[in-house]
Amino acid sequence: MSAVKRFFVKSIGEEPCLEGEEFEHAKNVLRLSVGDEVILLDNSGKEYSAVIVAVEKRRMRLNVLKENEGDREAATEVALLFGYLKNADKNEFIVQKAVELGVKKLIAFSSEFSSAYMNENKLERLNKVSREAAKQCLRSVAPEVAYCGDLKSALSAVKEYKNKLFACEFAAESEADISSLSGSTALVVGSEGGFSREEEASAKEFGFASVTLGKRILRAETAAVALTAVTMFALGELGGKA
Ligand code: SAH
Repeated sequence: MSAVKRFFVKSIGEEPCLEGEEFEHAKNVLRLSVGDEVILLDNSGKEYSAVIVAVEKRRMRLNVLKENEGDREAATEVALLFGYLKNADKNEFIVQKAVELGVKKLIAFSSEFSSAYMNENKLERLNKVSREAAKQCLRSVAPEVAYCGDLKSALSAVKEYKNKLFACEFAAESEADISSLSGSTALVVGSEGGFSREEEASAKEFGFASVTLGKRILRAETAAVALTAVTMFALGELGGKA
């Protein structure tokens, strides 16, 4: 049995509609039509069971039958700041995996040794990946992917987080104990070019503790997934003790 299809809408309002890509997907790929049931998401954390009542040229109109609170969100706020990579697929990989693992805030940033450039289309593409991943893993919220043109503005965007970890490839040992984390946590992982000593120093000024991910140098996307996974495990979001 295939699961009920999930769609993001701008707002639920009186009579929600599927438009744009969500409409095209529902109509042309999934071939949904009047009478079919779907789940609508509006990024509020709620999930709405709805039935398609009309299929028009550019949109489908729906009737909401029932509203529930989504119950798959992580209990703890985790943010992932990642150095924007040259290879688009790798940025998408990071976003997809972070969303699946429960991250609630994503910021791509440029840094000293990164040469990739961002534009509106690329950022929208990453947000689409976030929405698709959220639907696939049954989250009711797709985290927004934001972009900061430099490391410091990315670091200052997570001032409020209780724990702040900076994955530093040249740190000999960790200044924080990942396994005993509790509370909101911001993670920073560099791009393929890594970080400079000055960047590590400025992360310290912003309250970040440098952590090592072991003796081997991981690729940026491996580091992002590994650090997110161990953090989620420590926070009790990936199973835990029997
Ligand atoms: N080009 C750099 C490596 C960059 S790895 C070099 O040759 O040294 C990309 C990012 O992944 C790093 O900036 C860091 O955030 C993270 N990373 C990779 N391996 C790591 C490790 N062993 N410990 C901590 N962070 C690591």
